[in-house]
Amino acid sequence: MAIDNDRPKEACGVVGVFAPGEDVARLTYYALYALQHRGQESAGIAVSEGEAILVVKEMGLVAQVFDETTLRSLPGQLAIGHVRYSTTGGSRWENAQPIYREGRNLSVALAHNGNLVNTHELAGDLERSANRGVITSTDSDVIAEMIARSSRESVEEAILEVLPQLRGAFTLTMMDENTVFGARDPHGLRPLVLGSLPAGYVLASETCALAIIGAEFIREVEPGELIVIDKDGYRSHRYAEASPALCIFEYVYFARPDSVLYGKSVQSVRYNMGMRLAAEAPAEGDIVVPVPDSARGAAQGFAAASGIPYGEGLVKNAYVGRTFIQPTQAIREQGIRTKLNPITSMIEGKRLVVVDDSIVRGNTTRQIVRMLREAGAAEIHMRISSPPIQWPCFYGIDTANRDELIGAWKSVDEIARHIDADSLSYLSLEGMVESTEVAEEKFCHACFSSKYPIPIPENVRVTKHMLEEPPLEAPARPAG
Ligand code: AMP
Ligand code: SF4
Repeated sequence: MAIDNDRPKEACGVVGVFAPGEDVARLTYYALYALQHRGQESAGIAVSEGEAILVVKEMGLVAQVFDETTLRSLPGQLAIGHVRYSTTGGSRWENAQPIYREGRNLSVALAHNGNLVNTHELAGDLERSANRGVITSTDSDVIAEMIARSSRESVEEAILEVLPQLRGAFTLTMMDENTVFGARDPHGLRPLVLGSLPAGYVLASETCALAIIGAEFIREVEPGELIVIDKDGYRSHRYAEASPALCIFEYVYFARPDSVLYGKSVQSVRYNMGMRLAAEAPAEGDIVVPVPDSARGAAQGFAAASGIPYGEGLVKNAYVGRTFIQPTQAIREQGIRTKLNPITSMIEGKRLVVVDDSIVRGNTTRQIVRMLREAGAAEIHMRISSPPIQWPCFYGIDTANRDELIGAWKSVDEIARHIDADSLSYLSLEGMVESTEVAEEKFCHACFSSKYPIPIPENVRVTKHMLEEPPLEAPARPAG
């Protein structure tokens, strides 16, 4: 049995649709399409007409995986869907979701966003209780397997038995032949919302997936809550006490700007972050340029607060995936050029204030600065709308091991030199949190602060070296 939980692997998008009489595969397709920014590696849909679960999944973007013919071959009354975010090494068909598992009495399809931190223990328990070999390779497989193997009468009971045993980040949409389920971990690290359709209900990672399929927002699924949707409507089970710690990186980078989290528009929060950044780290410049797409809101806020005009100086090719989906460093560096191109007429001879949302390894940022210099920029002042990332994420966002995080081993001045910017400043932790207008205790911000809301088991630490001290002498000293 190979357990592949050596690194956080996904920050995916999940969907669940219960709508008898509707083309549920098509609704799921469009919802996944709106969640494409959450993962470009693979896409999949599972449907049921009430008798059996059918799954189609493949590597690629939603529109590459599904066409008219495939969608027509997926009739049903309920469906779940998944788009998967990739990481180094984990780019395999077997990792595509939804996962389907069949036990003696129960069958389940499951779509997972997040990362468990106790996969090894759970898999060990499964193995000991199994009479035959267990085919598990990921934390998501383990969850599906535990549900399918349960001796409970129904999938609903099995899920309620399994959820309290899971540690880490999980937003799940699941289904049996007749029921759709949606659950969030007790911290609600990853988002999930519930919406209504004219003939049913929908669950989706973000609110931006609702409008496209004509759904109305009802509410967020609560941390520690299981929502069950069937022909009688929807009902809620609280399987654990809520201790909210939404990933603040959802506001910074992951979520789409037209989504709403904790009742706050992601665009407005990014705008606030940019305004705050302009106050904390002013810059002299002729134009404020965003790194598209995720930094636009912050750049607009920076421009408004500083009085420096906003201007698009970089064009993003919308049809390539995010650079991180490329598996090797060489390809990743090449990928930047295929993804972004400078608009010379906007840049030439100007002092640029370039706003981006985050720096992880520093590779992309360095490339961008070089590209802008080649395009004739007079000065480049980088402003980052979140603090330095200094700690790895164990909850499903691939922010690299600690030794790869440039913010963990270089001071801000050293990073500025490394990326060859004339100046570099980051938003403070306090500034980032206050920009959300949500209480700090309702967030995880561990990658900036090392305050992990869920303890990381020792075996993950030791075997995976994720928290090892960086190789170089300089400890992280965020300045300003
Ligand atoms: P780098 O300079 O190589 O650290 O890359 C910084 C860029 O990566 C920024 O433009 C961010 O918007 C983007 N970014 C931040 N976090 C992630 C992530 N988890 N996956 C992909 N891209 C990211
Ligand atoms: Fe989000 Fe960072 Fe917490 Fe991971 S460690 S869940 S990326 S805030």
